[in-house]
Amino acid sequence: MILKIDCMSYEEFMNKYDKEHSCCPKCGSKNFSSTLVGYIYNPEKPEEYKDRNSVRCFDCGWRGIRHDMVPAPVKMDKDTILEIYKHIQKRADDYRDKLNKSYSIEREERYSECNTILAMLIGFLNNI
Ligand SMILES: [Zn+2]
Repeated sequence: MILKIDCMSYEEFMNKYDKEHSCCPKCGSKNFSSTLVGYIYNPEKPEEYKDRNSVRCFDCGWRGIRHDMVPAPVKMDKDTILEIYKHIQKRADDYRDKLNKSYSIEREERYSECNTILAMLIGFLNNI
């Protein structure tokens, strides 16, 4: 009988882990050296995995362990910003629906604040 464990595969987990711990926490560089010890991975408790390999950043000299490294910053390209915009717009629409159901001055103010932010975002998008 094959026991199927419904969780992330080892490779998937390691790819994700490597991405989330790929940059120097001090200067953001990906230019580093690392020892290559293998650490135990328990698929039932992936959050407990900790890569304790010693890392040294070639750019700023930071020394630490791989676990303390950080993900690369998210690139804010036009598509990413557009996605965020759509998300905010949906929130604003939901909010307006709620507002229509029960009126209050405070809610009215928040809704107009929301519209101001959206207008700023549109202005920003048009300038990219
Ligand atoms: Zn560094």
